Amino acid sequence: MMNVKLETKFDVIEASHYGMCFGVKAAIKAAEKLSAMRPVTVLGELAHNASVKRGLESRGVSHGKLEADSAVTKNVLITAHGASDKDRLRWKNQGYRVTDTTCPLVHKAHQALAQLVLAGYVPIVIGKAGHVEVRGLVGDFPSAVIVQTLDDVAGLNLDTEKIGVISQTTQQITHVEVMVQAIRERHPEAQVKFVDTVCKPTKERQQALLDLCSQVKLVIVVGGSNSNNTAQLADKCRKLGCRAYHVQSPSDLKAAWFDNVERVGLTAGTSTPQSDISAVKRKLMKMSRGS
Ligand code: SF4
Repeated sequence: MMNVKLETKFDVIEASHYGMCFGVKAAIKAAEKLSAMRPVTVLGELAHNASVKRGLESRGVSHGKLEADSAVTKNVLITAHGASDKDRLRWKNQGYRVTDTTCPLVHKAHQALAQLVLAGYVPIVIGKAGHVEVRGLVGDFPSAVIVQTLDDVAGLNLDTEKIGVISQTTQQITHVEVMVQAIRERHPEAQVKFVDTVCKPTKERQQALLDLCSQVKLVIVVGGSNSNNTAQLADKCRKLGCRAYHVQSPSDLKAAWFDNVERVGLTAGTSTPQSDISAVKRKLMKMSRGS
């Protein structure tokens, strides 16, 4: 009997860690469970993904803003990204029933910041000003300084002997380390204490991307078109020397991308639901077999 080897056009290699983190998954589950019992308003976005939002809205979940004064339901839900105590209390004091799905690793970052402030450090948060997690972190500490770039660090002029640094949980750890070093150099006279608050799932995904890009030249990154995290992931692949395409659904894949490609990497942003990733993967596998 003759062995017939099916000819494949390319292999698909998945990153060892990708997609939605446990914190966001738990928050979505809590919103689904709560909405089955009573009407609920999510304060902000649980995940920056249109299909997640549509899925929740089909269950009757409303969306509102954390910084707003009112919501259309008496039950409100704080997302995995967290909130300041000030905002949490404001909703409670207005008579809303608050369900808090803040990720435990975001809580840890809040605690780290509070401890630094208590110990007399001037607090610096490395992160994106305006991001809901960063707003929550600094919301209770008006003295906190947010820095995102080396230019921001160069502009620091703090009159203190003690500086305490944490970061947004989803920052690139390598970027954070460079920023901490720059803060030390900007203020050599100060004692700079750094507490690493980049979360484990973020670090795992960052390492997995490095590994993936060492094996392939082309990466498909799955995620909502409005997902900043997915766009950043695609950018990072490009910086690592890979061609990268950000797709939302299987219909975005173009056959021409795969000409003369032997291995294709697959990864996804942290807000991407598994159903979207699986749909893209199925189509990729089909294309890999030339069908
Ligand atoms: S802290 Fe990490 S695990 Fe938690 S919600 Fe944010 S990204 Fe996800």
